This record gives sequence, structure tokens and C-alpha cells, in this order.
Amino acid sequence: YRTFANKVYSENTLDFGIIIFFVDVTEEIQSEQIRRDFSANVSHELKTPLTTIKGFGELLENGIFTKEEDVKKYGGMIYRESERLLYLINDIIRLSQIEEQEHVLNDKIDLLKTAHDVEEILRHKADNREVTMTIEGEPVQIYGNQSYITELFLNLMDNAIKYNHEGGSLKVTVGIEDGKAFAVFSDTGIGISDEHQSRIFERFYRVDKSRSKKIGGTGLGLSIVKHIVAYHSGEISLESELEKGTTITVKLPFNEPETQQAEETAVTE
Ligand code: ADP
Repeated sequence: YRTFANKVYSENTLDFGIIIFFVDVTEEIQSEQIRRDFSANVSHELKTPLTTIKGFGELLENGIFTKEEDVKKYGGMIYRESERLLYLINDIIRLSQIEEQEHVLNDKIDLLKTAHDVEEILRHKADNREVTMTIEGEPVQIYGNQSYITELFLNLMDNAIKYNHEGGSLKVTVGIEDGKAFAVFSDTGIGISDEHQSRIFERFYRVDKSRSKKIGGTGLGLSIVKHIVAYHSGEISLESELEKGTTITVKLPFNEPETQQAEETAVTE
């Protein structure tokens, strides 16, 4: 608690009293802690690829690698680490944009069409991993931020392909239930054990760091998804079983924009 006191005087007399305020600052302290952890993590995550890039760059400059295959190998490592760094920086920027932006939810979004568009983007990757994608459901229209919703589908479907077994599958179902739109992402992948389930939405949290590093990713995807869901006043839940698969359900309100409603009313009147 933060406490502070104010002296108050009565208007007519010289009497005075003291009011003591107790302000619960738990949330403030927690978010300050999250900010500090985030900065520490960002520094660490950025330093790791940069150290590799700097180290191998220096060795290349000094002509340590004379064989062409070595130059190719270490040049390739520099290239891949730079790429990872770029993804990381993009995700960090994306996360802070979502956090700071005002809530403008004006785009008319069809969730089924978004799922199909993202399926096209990821088809090559899914084919490479022999993962079958299916999309089911009816056209569902909500209002929101199209680029964020596309990103939500991209991150969740990309994870379902990345953390799947070869020959596995991903099913996306879109629909309406209890006055809300929903999208369910169900994969037959490696699953997530109970102890990790509550933590995977944290920034930079990855279940198996070395395995995940090989698979590629920044550890920020689900954190971005969580923020996009909150931005749209939605809910997200997860069910998973190791080696069986994972199902992530996103529920989104329709977010009918007020101005739109007003316009429609004006037209009918
Ligand atoms: P990453 O960039 O590592 O994919 P995410 O934030 O998207 O970061 O996911 C965090 C971690 O959660 C991943 O590293 C992975 O361990 C786990 N994970 C996410 N989605 C799935 C899934 N569909 N199946 C199994 N594990 C998953």
C-alpha cells in the first residue's frame, strides 16, 4: 500500500483532522515488475544473436576462414541470426503498438475469409511439414482491426504447423455461439504439459528453448495473440495434452461500431 495523509480544517472553527489514504498499488508494482522483466529479456534476446553476428563477422573480416565452404557456413549463420533479430525487433514493435494504440475497431472482418487467406499464406510451410489444414464453419462477421486479427490467425496457425508432427493436422473452425464469434484452432501436435500451459502466453516464454530455437520463432507470438484478444475485448482459452495435441479457442464480441449503427438507423428512418 502507498499511504499519504492530508490535514483538513473545518470551515467555521479552528478544528482540524487528518485523513489518511491507503492506496492499493499491487497492480502498479506488478506492471512495473513486468516492464522491468521485459526490458531485461529484450536486452538478453537481442544480445544473443548480435554476439554471434559480431563474432563470426569479425572472424570473416580477419580472413580466418579460408575454405569456401567455411565462409558459406559462417556467412549463413550470420544471415540466419540477422533474420532472427529482425523477426524479434518486428515482434517487439508490434507488441508495443498493440499496447499503446487507441481502440479503433472499425474494420468489417470476416473470420472465415481471414482463416482461408492465412491458410494460403501458410500452405507452403504446411506442405513442407506434411501437415493437413482444414477450415470449417460459416461466414462470421465482426468489427475489429483486420491486420491484428490476421496476425492472430497467422500466429496460432503457424504454431499449430510448427509444433505438429509430420503428417499431422490442423483444423480451424469458425462460428457463432452464445452471441459471440469464435475461432477454434485444433492441432494434433506435440502438445503442452500442464506446468507450461499457464506460462506460454508470457513474453519470451518457450517450452523447450533449444528445440524451439531450431523450429524458429521469437517467443512473443502468443503474447501478441493475447494482447490482440484483449484489444478486441475477447477471451482466449487453451486445452492441451502432451503428444496428443492442442486446442486454442478464441471468443470475440461482434464490436458493432456505434457510428455504423447510427448511420444504419438514419437510413431506415
Ligand atoms: P514461438 O515464437 O516460440 O512459437 P509463441 O509465443 O508463439 O512463441 O509460443 C510460445 C511457446 O508455446 C512455443 O515456444 C511452444 O513451446 C509453445 N506452443 C505454442 N503453440 C503451440 C502448439 N500449438 N503446440 C505445442 N506447443 C505450442
